[in-house]
Amino acid sequence: MKNCIFCKILDGQIPSYKIYEDEYVYAFLDINPSTKGHTLVIPKEHVIDIYDMDEETAAKTFQAIPKIASAIKKAFNPIGLNIVNNNQKPHQVVFHYHIHLIPRYEDDSFKISFFNNEPTSEELLDIKEKIIANL
Ligand code: 5GP
Ligand code: ZN
Repeated sequence: MKNCIFCKILDGQIPSYKIYEDEYVYAFLDINPSTKGHTLVIPKEHVIDIYDMDEETAAKTFQAIPKIASAIKKAFNPIGLNIVNNNQKPHQVVFHYHIHLIPRYEDDSFKISFFNNEPTSEELLDIKEKIIANL
């Protein structure tokens, strides 16, 4: 896709620190890493976001992740790993689908917060039904 920064990386027009590549997937270091070893995994096919992704592309993209995650773990011995994928407004900046592998270290400055709401069982039931109706 013209004007897509990650397609340009795939084409070799923009250099990258390649970690892994197969027929369907390319993984490279994030240029502005949140932590040491922060890696992006992308499908070679230009897919905008999770809503633009078919099941086959999703399967092939995710298939590469355990191997890459394990390599990062062996390389740097992090205390854990966050797998993050921003879709649309909440923080998606590059519109070529990508998965962030963010190894975590004691006292790193990466923040991810889950606010725990307390819905009633009726509310949970209603939410569940609404999602199921759209599967
Ligand atoms: P998003 O916010 O869209 O989920 O994440 C986009 C990520 O792409 C950011 O973490 C940013 O640092 C990274 N990024 C943007 N441009 C480049 C680039 O040219 N090369 C590399 N390696 N990473 C990039
Ligand atoms: Zn692209």
